[in-house]
Order: sequence, then C-alpha cells, then structure tokens
Amino acid sequence: MGEREHGPEPQPLGPGPVGSAAPLSPSPPSCPTDPTPPAPALASAPPLVSADLRRRNPLLTEAGARLLRALLEHSDAPRWNYRCGDLLTSTDLRAIEGFRTELATLRCARRPGPPDDALLRKVAGLRPRVAWFRRRLPPGADLERDWDALPTTSREDLAATPGDLMPDDSDLERLVVHATSGTTGHPVLVPHHPFACSAYKPLLEVALAAYGIHPRFGPEVVGAFLVCAQAHTVTYATVHAAWRDAGFAKLNLAPADWPTPESAARYFDRFQPLLLTGDPGSFAEMLRLKIAARPLALVSTAVALQSGLQADLAAAYGCPVLDWYSLNEVGPVAYACPRGFLHVLPHDLHVEAVDAGGRAVPPGERGELAATGGRNPFLPLFRYRTGDWGRMVYEPCACGDPMPRILDLEGRAPVLFRTRAGAPVNAVDVSRVLRPFSIVQHAFVQRADLSCELVLRPAPGRPDPDAARLEHALREIFGPGIAISVRLDARLGLDAPAGKVVAYRSEVGTRA
Ligand SMILES: [Zn+2]
Repeated sequence: MGEREHGPEPQPLGPGPVGSAAPLSPSPPSCPTDPTPPAPALASAPPLVSADLRRRNPLLTEAGARLLRALLEHSDAPRWNYRCGDLLTSTDLRAIEGFRTELATLRCARRPGPPDDALLRKVAGLRPRVAWFRRRLPPGADLERDWDALPTTSREDLAATPGDLMPDDSDLERLVVHATSGTTGHPVLVPHHPFACSAYKPLLEVALAAYGIHPRFGPEVVGAFLVCAQAHTVTYATVHAAWRDAGFAKLNLAPADWPTPESAARYFDRFQPLLLTGDPGSFAEMLRLKIAARPLALVSTAVALQSGLQADLAAAYGCPVLDWYSLNEVGPVAYACPRGFLHVLPHDLHVEAVDAGGRAVPPGERGELAATGGRNPFLPLFRYRTGDWGRMVYEPCACGDPMPRILDLEGRAPVLFRTRAGAPVNAVDVSRVLRPFSIVQHAFVQRADLSCELVLRPAPGRPDPDAARLEHALREIFGPGIAISVRLDARLGLDAPAGKVVAYRSEVGTRA
C-alpha cells in the first residue's frame, strides 16, 4: 500500500523534529515618515527577513515576510508546533517554471505499453548510475522491447535499501528526509528534493484549470490552507516562492489547537485562502463546526471522497470539490476531472497496471498501479508498485484531457474505529502511533466486540518494533475497556495477491 499523502502540500521541510515554535522576531522599526529619530532599541531591531527565515525560504521577499508574520501572529492563530519553508533557490524556481511550461505542452494522449521515448531516454541515462538498476536490470535488456519483463520495485526496496535507488552522483546537500503522514500503509523514509516538493504546485494548477480556475497568487493572498482534524498533527505557516510568496498554513481543527472556540472560524474569515486542501474527514469537520470560507476550490486527498459528502461540500462552499490522488513516494499521480474521472496528472510519470509477475495487464483490466519516472532526483521511480489497484484506460475523455484515466482506484476507503464509549478514532491517529517504528506493512483490525489486533511486518535488517510500547500507545488512543493485541509477522502480505494487505479494517459496523 502506498503512503498516501494527507494533502497536496508536501510534508514539512526544514530543521528539527516537531517541537514548540521558536519566538517570532519583533516588529520592524516604526513608520518611516515619523520625524523622530528611532530609539536605539528599534534601530537595532532585526530585519523583517531574518537569517533564520532566509535559510528556510531563500527567496523570501519583504512582502512575503509581512504576510507570514500576519499569519503567525494573528490573535486567533492556532498553536504552531513546527517551522519550515520551501528551501527553494532561484535555480529551483527556474526549474519549476520549466516544469510548468512542459506540463502545458507535453500532457498528451498515451498508448498502452512502455513509456514514451523521453522517459525511456531518462531511464537509460540512469541505468549506469543507480545501484538497483545495475543489479536488477539484465545487461542485455532493451528497455522498450523488454519493458514488460523487467522487474518492478516496491516499498520493500525503499524500506530496506533506499540508497540503492538513489543515483550515485546525487547532490546530498539538497536532500530532505522527513516524516510522512497518511492513512494507509506504513511510512518509509522517502528522500525528497525541494524542487520536487514544490513541483506539486504547477500540477495543482493544471487540475484547477480543468475547472476553469486560474488563481492569482502573490504575497497579498493566502494560497491554501491544508486542513486537518486529528488528535495531534504538525501545524505551521509559511509562504511559497513557487506561488510568488502566497501564504500557506497547515491547520488542525482540534479545539485544543485554538485560543478560543471561535478562533478557527475567525482565522479562516480573516485570511480567506484561495484553496482548501484536506482529507474528507477534515472537510466534514469544517461543515460540522460551520466554518465559513469562500475558496475557489476544495482539493480532497488521502482517502476516497464519497459523492454525498462531495455534494454537501460543493453546496456549502459554492465551489468545485476535486479529488486528488497523491503518494509520498511518487508525488501527485492523478486528479478527478469535471466528468469524475481520475486522469494521470504529470506528463513525466508513466502509470501502468501490472499483474503479480510485473506484466502489464491489458487496457481496462484491473492490476496494481506501478509508476515510472517522476521528477524527484533522489528517487527515480522504476515500475514502482504503489499498492493501489485500478484499471487504466486510454480512450479520450469527454472533458478534453487527453491523459490516460485510472478507473476503480482501490485502497482508499476511509476507516473509523470506536472507543468503548462510542467515540470515533481515526485511522490517521493509529498511523501516527505506528510512524516511529520500522515497519514494512501492517494490518489493523477492530472486531465486532471492539477488541483490536495489530499485525506488523518489520522492516528487514532493522531492530524489531517494540510490541509492548505499541500496545501501550494504542491503549492511550482507544481508552479503557478494549482488548488490544500486537504481534509481528515477517510474512504479512507475502501470501496475499501481489503482497497487498488491508491496512485498516473495522468489523464494528456503523454503530454511532
Ligand atoms: Zn476527463
């Protein structure tokens, strides 16, 4: 199962683990028209763009810094627990511009079979530079002719030997490795690059354009809020150079995150984000809290968006609600067009549906989705098995987008568990507990009697996860009166079709 991203926003970049936010820099010197010479204390005040900010956001403008300060210091601002920036350099920004241009010209109809020539050339160029390629691709194999017979990669390759997938000549100065969020599967450490992280923005622009939406980003607007509704999550505000220093904040609707019960609504009203991204559960929580907003679009990710909720959200917020399919290891994969079909989004990503042996299944037949290419210089994907299943179709869509479609995408069903008192426990909260451990896959089930069982497949070559510690952490979430068992199974998933296990399952039913 792929590690599905919680939102189109890449996970936090930058220093340090989650912790309390450092003090914010004081205000700049007072009004320049003031005839009184500034007091010595003000004269020595640090510049608006401090060295610390400059390190996280190398291209930060003064206008962007002002917006960031407003987001961070507003009286209704939530509790921030993380600081991060886009780490973008001017070279990265030019690469993003180039990627935007390519997207506009190279998204075109595809045929079933091997990737297009441009991608094949890219793979051929990597072949001598990536250890896994050297070891696993037969020396005589022709990429185009023998594509179907070439091996696939998987989460296990990434978990066990991530360095083997990284080109030998990688510039590790730009390497960013961070914790991931998601509702399914277990996170593996994915090497990221600031350019690849910010490249999701032009991709999102393509999806929005399909709905006739063309946001005007700049330091006078907040580009997006990534909305969460979880017991605990990382929260931060930043600005994005790839969106001309438009603001961004990752927020958690949990009441404990806000200064007063009315703060969240006032904060949304004050900053009016152009876009809202989040999982369906978080959007449902916005509805429940009656948080008003007037975004151009809602972008729904992480788990399947049910059509009933989609209609409610579209009515409440007066805008399209787009479904978005993104994986931490792959980045954005597909978006739902106005006709409701998931189109492959990036032109530089080859998506195929394969069988257990790695052979592409005929168009229209169900298979495991595998991805090749992408733009992460530290992780060139090669027939990467996502753990998600679907059917690829190549016929033109009535919406006009020529890129192939993924039908019947599976593995995204939301799962809620229950405490003895009937309170909901989100799969995201269980994921959070599992995150620190070295696990390839897991299967968590809550039985009809509310007892819970967690089966883990430990990552090879790492110390086994501490089952007692996990059991204790789960007990904290589920509260008293629920039996919880944790066991390790090195063969979990190995006997299932294509190694697929259901990460979360509830037999409790819909008891409220
Ligand atoms: Zn379409």
